[in-house]
Amino acid sequence: MRVRLRNPERVEQLDGPLTVAQVLAQLDLDPNTVLVIHEGELVTASHQLGDDAEVEVRPVISGGAGPTCVVCRAPAAIEEPRHRSAWCPSHFADHVQGQIRKAIDRPVAGSEGRMFSYADRILVAVSGGKDSLALWDALLSMGYRADGLYVGLGIGGYSQRSGEICREFAAERAAPRGGRLIEVDLAEEYGYTTPSGSQASSRSTCGVCGLSKRYVFNRVAVDEGYDVMVTGHNLDDEAATLLGNVLRWNDDFLARQRPVLPETGANQVRKCKPLYRLSEREMAAYCVVTGIDYVVEECPLVDGNTGHELKEALNVLERGSPGAKAQFLFGFLDRHAEHFAETTDDGPRLVACQECGMPTVTEICAFCRQRERILATLPLAGQKAEA
Ligand code: SF4
Ligand SMILES: [Zn+2]
Ligand SMILES: [Zn+2]
Repeated sequence: MRVRLRNPERVEQLDGPLTVAQVLAQLDLDPNTVLVIHEGELVTASHQLGDDAEVEVRPVISGGAGPTCVVCRAPAAIEEPRHRSAWCPSHFADHVQGQIRKAIDRPVAGSEGRMFSYADRILVAVSGGKDSLALWDALLSMGYRADGLYVGLGIGGYSQRSGEICREFAAERAAPRGGRLIEVDLAEEYGYTTPSGSQASSRSTCGVCGLSKRYVFNRVAVDEGYDVMVTGHNLDDEAATLLGNVLRWNDDFLARQRPVLPETGANQVRKCKPLYRLSEREMAAYCVVTGIDYVVEECPLVDGNTGHELKEALNVLERGSPGAKAQFLFGFLDRHAEHFAETTDDGPRLVACQECGMPTVTEICAFCRQRERILATLPLAGQKAEA
């Protein structure tokens, strides 16, 4: 049989018939970190594959081994050890939307009310990856007024494919339900790409990229009059960030790590993370069962991003003890108000940036300073690259 694997893209030939579990064992893959797709459907560990089968193994999600759906008893397509449950495709989509509903209605214990309401205009930061597109799709399905924002980062073929996927999603799935896509190209709008900006400023690519994206998200949300900005950060992202903050005992970051960040002054919008209760694996499976096409490949510059090692460390713990990741994150959020929230009240006063008017604690905001540095050296960096 022909097995297509991703990240890196490769094909393995195996002799069948084999069960999905046997295929994964032969390839030395952890069933909890992949999802197996056969003839367009998610398949479980006991599914039989013939000698001529063509299957795809996608990272971070798994076929699981749940025999029947906990809701309707039909054959299960995905099992989630953390919930000790299995679902058929349509009830799995309900489960994901149910967790999003829970996050929106009750962000954390003793917290400041709902993330947003049906009256709010919501802007979803979309990258072309599974989390953000699934989030946009789920919010539209749930009846919210949600538009998407795609920022073109200029990362070669990766950005090109991501942009195409977002445009396709917008035309086929968002527009019919009233959602539109806003696009901002970093090079056109601000004069640099993520790689050229990093080269010119000698800062890490993810550093330049992160600051630029955060700025553009807030800027567009403010300029276009949105009430709230949402991002596709999932349980794995948030648990990894928490682990990193705890390892460095970074009190300021711990104080700000919440699923809802209220606006604290002019020219700011509320920022929310409605996927914080859902794992990476659940989000990828949601895309498969609802037919969302997303960019499976990772950003080629991701090596500079230490979040990956933290995620791997948490996956080791999760394998031995399903639910460990969720306990770690939810336990922190339950204790947040009592132990960390106070710290934010005494934060420095925000003023308007003298260049762009966006909120900052210094005269000129970090984005404008970074941009100025990049544009001052960019022609030189260009010459160096040609030499
Ligand atoms: S991995 Fe780094 S460079 Fe790539 S999109 Fe994410 S933040 Fe930007
Ligand atoms: Zn069902
Ligand atoms: Zn500025």
